[in-house]
Amino acid sequence: MDKPFPQREELDWEYQRECPRCGDEAAWDGGTETWDGRNCLTLACPGCGYRFAHYSGKWEIAFRKEGMPAFTPGRGACASDEL
Ligand SMILES: [Zn+2]
Repeated sequence: MDKPFPQREELDWEYQRECPRCGDEAAWDGGTETWDGRNCLTLACPGCGYRFAHYSGKWEIAFRKEGMPAFTPGRGACASDEL
């Protein structure tokens, strides 16, 4: 069974990208993974519940400089986006 769909306020919208499954916006769910020495964040999509790890060169530069970010649920979530 899949995990329940994440709520927008459970995710950190400082780190987001398009969901590869449904095209909706997905955001960081607080998880991290390391692939080949690269730091990936696990993102979750409130639209379809899909979860995936994403690597971004831009994020990587920030992580190496400032360390891994603190997960802040609800950061950047836009309430007016709700239907
Ligand atoms: Zn999705």
